[in-house]
Amino acid sequence: MKRSNVALFVPHNGCPKQCSFCNQKEITGCTERVTQSDVEAAAETALKSGYDTAQSEIAFFGGSFTGIEPEYMKSLLEAAYSYVSKGLFKGIRISTRPDYISQEILNTLKAYGVTSIELGAQSMDDGVLELNLRGHSADDVVKSSELIKKNGFSLGLQMMTGLYGSDDEKDICTARRLIELKPDTIRIYPTIALKNTRLGELCLSGEYKPQTLKQAVELCSRLIVMFNSAGIKIIRLGLHDSESLRADYISGPYHPAFRELCESRIFLNRIIASIDDLDCGAKKYTVHVSPRNISKAVGQKRKNIEEMRFRGIEIKVIPDDRLENDGLRITPVV
Ligand code: SF4
Repeated sequence: MKRSNVALFVPHNGCPKQCSFCNQKEITGCTERVTQSDVEAAAETALKSGYDTAQSEIAFFGGSFTGIEPEYMKSLLEAAYSYVSKGLFKGIRISTRPDYISQEILNTLKAYGVTSIELGAQSMDDGVLELNLRGHSADDVVKSSELIKKNGFSLGLQMMTGLYGSDDEKDICTARRLIELKPDTIRIYPTIALKNTRLGELCLSGEYKPQTLKQAVELCSRLIVMFNSAGIKIIRLGLHDSESLRADYISGPYHPAFRELCESRIFLNRIIASIDDLDCGAKKYTVHVSPRNISKAVGQKRKNIEEMRFRGIEIKVIPDDRLENDGLRITPVV
């Protein structure tokens, strides 16, 4: 049976100020303050959905959960915990800032049944954090992550690519440092310039240039390989599609199927590397992949086929039942 996580958005609640890229109200489309009744209504809807809620979480996203007024925070947790304590849901997930974690806060979260904590790390470069008005350091990410793990919570980390002042090298370095913290999950968000944000202004004035879609896909496909190799589950890649996001979009590598683009790019990189390894000088190859990976190997709108043709090589992708998971076999056509 499928899981059905319940996501409640507390946009900007608990945030000390606005980070350069963020307008959570635009991203989530939520402007109203969440109440206990909202939590209950969302949980009840999920319970009636027929999904396996006992394996699902009730999640609070979109703000700095541990920064909101303690009474309000506890009221939301209470409503959620009444379902978790009866075994109707597996646990509670919250997201917050790396500088809003302490032993005292973790004790409270534990008492109210929180099981997973996600930190918006965004970058592990202090200069980038400062330029983007984050108000915390990379060291805060390290200390909070260690404390969260020591207290037995599942740790999730979020990073962004292409922030103001960042580049591929800094983003890859961020990924390396996040991997060292051994999170259970990761979310990767290429930076998008939105209206009513500092980055939006900088973008319109020409001072900030977001990554192109191609650049973001190339970088994120490398990050996927890094996190996969470290056994860290990527639970989100790219922003969710929403009407409000589209309405407030100014510039940046937004695509509703961003993850698929990256996974296709990974296949293209592997095809190129395998042909290089064969080093046989042939101009035509058959690419064997498991049936479920045909579209990734071909690429959206046959992009990988066209890219190889641009490189002077013809490839034909065919399904091969003997190949499992991401298996790939290349044979020259003679
Ligand atoms: S702390 Fe998070 S939710 Fe709050 S303004 Fe910054 S990015 Fe947005």
